[in-house]
Amino acid sequence: MSESLFSDAKQRLETALKYIAISEDAIEHLKFPKASLTVSIPVRMDNGSLRIFQGYRVRYDDTRGPTKGGIRFHPNVTLEEVQSLAFWMTFKCAVLNLPFGGAKGGIALNPKELSKMELERLSRGYIDAIADFIGPDVDIPAPDVYTSPMIMGWMMDQYSIIRRQITLAVVTGKPVTMGGSLGRDTATATGAYFVIETINQRFPSSPKDTTVAVQGFGNAGAHIAELLFKAGYKVVAVSDSQGGIYTKNGLDIPSIRQYKEAHRGMKAIYCRGTVCNIVDHKILSNQELLTLDVDILIPAALENQITAANADDIKAKFIFEVANGPINSAADKILDAKGIYVVPDILVNAGGVTVSYFEWVQNRSGLYWTLDEVNQRLKQKMVEETKQIWEIAQQQAISLRTAAYVHGLHRLGEAIDSKGTRDYYLNG
Ligand code: NAD
Repeated sequence: MSESLFSDAKQRLETALKYIAISEDAIEHLKFPKASLTVSIPVRMDNGSLRIFQGYRVRYDDTRGPTKGGIRFHPNVTLEEVQSLAFWMTFKCAVLNLPFGGAKGGIALNPKELSKMELERLSRGYIDAIADFIGPDVDIPAPDVYTSPMIMGWMMDQYSIIRRQITLAVVTGKPVTMGGSLGRDTATATGAYFVIETINQRFPSSPKDTTVAVQGFGNAGAHIAELLFKAGYKVVAVSDSQGGIYTKNGLDIPSIRQYKEAHRGMKAIYCRGTVCNIVDHKILSNQELLTLDVDILIPAALENQITAANADDIKAKFIFEVANGPINSAADKILDAKGIYVVPDILVNAGGVTVSYFEWVQNRSGLYWTLDEVNQRLKQKMVEETKQIWEIAQQQAISLRTAAYVHGLHRLGEAIDSKGTRDYYLNG
């Protein structure tokens, strides 16, 4: 399945190439990851036993700068999944015009089964294993699914121990007290919110009449649900890995967040405790959430959630991909034919890497910005690139996803060509 995820990811490149003239060299270049590393990480468990974990780091393309991308802790992590995620990062950084290439990393494990101390040993062991593959001018990791600021702090600390110098800029998404940027924890959701607001300006409908369903209630999903709730949108459904809740009059998102944080899981909300008393809600599965008749659907969990098997049942008018790769290319065609606007991951969730870039800049300059400064700069970038992608889609009569790839390809193609192409050498 993961292998097809990577072929599927590259399918979007093939589609976009029909709408842009770029050199054969650039196309060849973008089809393959620059470097992939697989490591075995030995970890002494709390009970004295030794466990070996498989870890990966892929640097996909560094033509535009050092590579950048998160680290995922999840049982389904494979090299192919990490390659796909690194491929998307390459385009995401180009779409946002960040001076970075794309990378990704991951460890195959269920982090919920490890104690905090085991997680720390694993995180440090991963950095021991990949230290020569990363660096502030080479490749800069960040958080992704089931990795947190604390884990990023351990990783930066471990790298600094290995190099014998404090190297804040080697990892982003760190705790603010360890060189993290204000606003990084909410950046993915805040960026997605700016994209939604920019696009909703073109299709005016008052937030209070706009219904929203959010799949995934983690860093990205819970924050976007709360931002939309605070802006007056009617968030009618949310879910996590264990299932979801729905109420047609809208959920009280801040109470759900508080309750989930206190009780560690949406499951706790199902039928006991305060939130159940506040909202009259229905329990629904993740699949049911995806097919709700809502204005805005936000997949914010994992990839391959909407495929040819369920695309026909999707009723939302807009989908904003906060997760990476939640829709596969077969589903793209079905959703397109149904007239559903799909705003792609490489734009919608790029707020995370954009504020990671701001963190890297602050670490290197030693000058730290206020939350307002961070958010203003983020807004400027997200709104500007969203408008450009919208224009490309209109002018070329293509989907927003293809337009986003075309937009990124312009920048990537130019950068690759500026190193010299076969035309240059053959004709020169
Ligand atoms: P997270 O670990 O904080 O949260 C993941 C959430 O998804 C959790 O609520 C979990 O319960 C839920 N989930 C897991 N499996 C699920 C399933 N099968 N069905 C429904 N929900 C499920 O992760 P995150 O950082 O919020 O990342 C979520 C998505 O956003 C990922 O695709 C990630 O790549 C993407 N993303 C995250 C960032 C970031 O800065 N955190 C940046 C860009 C993209």
